[in-house]
Amino acid sequence: MQNPLRDFGPVAVAAPLPRRSRQAKVVWGSRIVTVGGDAPVRVQSMTNTDTVDAIGTAIQVKELAQAGSEFVRITVNTPEAAAAVPYIREQLDRMGESVPLVGDFHYNGHRLLTDFPDCAQALSKYRINPGNVGKGDKKDKQFGQMIEAAVRWNKAVRIGVNWGSLDQELLASLMDANSQRAQPWEARQVMYEALITSAIESARQAEAMGLSGDQIILSCKVSGVQDLIAVYRELARRCDYALHLGLTEAGMGTKGTVASSTALGILLQEGIGDTIRVSLTPQPGEARTQEVVVASEILQSLGLRVFVPSVTACPGCGRTTSTTFQELAKQIDDYLRAQMPVWRVRYPGVEGMKVAVMGCIVNGPGESKHADIGISLPGTGEAPAAPVFIDGEKALTLRGERIAEEFHALVERYVERRYGGH
Ligand code: SF4
Repeated sequence: MQNPLRDFGPVAVAAPLPRRSRQAKVVWGSRIVTVGGDAPVRVQSMTNTDTVDAIGTAIQVKELAQAGSEFVRITVNTPEAAAAVPYIREQLDRMGESVPLVGDFHYNGHRLLTDFPDCAQALSKYRINPGNVGKGDKKDKQFGQMIEAAVRWNKAVRIGVNWGSLDQELLASLMDANSQRAQPWEARQVMYEALITSAIESARQAEAMGLSGDQIILSCKVSGVQDLIAVYRELARRCDYALHLGLTEAGMGTKGTVASSTALGILLQEGIGDTIRVSLTPQPGEARTQEVVVASEILQSLGLRVFVPSVTACPGCGRTTSTTFQELAKQIDDYLRAQMPVWRVRYPGVEGMKVAVMGCIVNGPGESKHADIGISLPGTGEAPAAPVFIDGEKALTLRGERIAEEFHALVERYVERRYGGH
């Protein structure tokens, strides 16, 4: 028989390209969180509490951090909010939560950072939007005041441009210049140029004022997937600052999740993006932490990070007419996520565990064998027995009404046995 592989080399293994950004540092006390370069791509999130409510904000920051957010941004929009920031930091420290806080400033950031030094000090990073720092002569002065505060307190800065609040003077001048071209660009290409120019020029200005390049992170957020890809490809080509990635105003539920995953997935695969945020609008009753779950899943599914044990579950089909396996898959997924804040510390390496919950005999045993621990539930018409596979071997068979609870206990015992000996 002829060798069937004779004409082909091995299939190329797919992996995200290495990132090209320089490394930036975000400092809180003795803690330094690196961003960019060879640091892991980090997850960021933002509270939706009133910052003046220091306790409520500290609780939400902690929830976001426990869900896996490595920076949490809070709105700092009024003197009262600025005055609350040190108390929020204090509460977090008291709760043993060291996640760096990022202050989100627009319009009056120069005044707040000057008038409230405790706020300026308690934050680890300032987000400055060059489109909202002031107009005309005031723009450079007010931007300069914010950079001065960052230099004085040794803080990182994200220069965060957003197309919803783009520097209108810059855009108008680029539009004028474009109209002089023999072949004018499309309006959206001028907008791309304005976003990128605003970010890079502001960064250069900040460096000229004494801020170090490793304290600068850039972002240029837009709400269209193709727009975001175009802008970030060019931004990454033109500079090596660390980049924060996010689709602004991504929307709710499935739409927001899919749009963010598509845009961020493509860019991250190309090696673009050092921190990410998924700007989901929470659905009524939905936890704010959902945006962290989605962001973590994007990184985990690309193989860039490992945050939580993964649950492989089949979609179900005509062979699964009961909802038992869906319920079990969800229970296990929820359970694993809920345990992670404690398990991360107690069971190092547990985040890499793979659990399979399958609906019938067709792919159930095979998929379960690939997992660390897996169960193949009986499909319609199959004998009411669920084989459990541990480390690739069939270990036992569960039967009866309590299959879910018994499998749950088996997972707990597996985690303790495999990851508890450190
Ligand atoms: S494993 Fe079985 S139940 Fe699940 S999708 Fe495949 S055939 Fe259907």
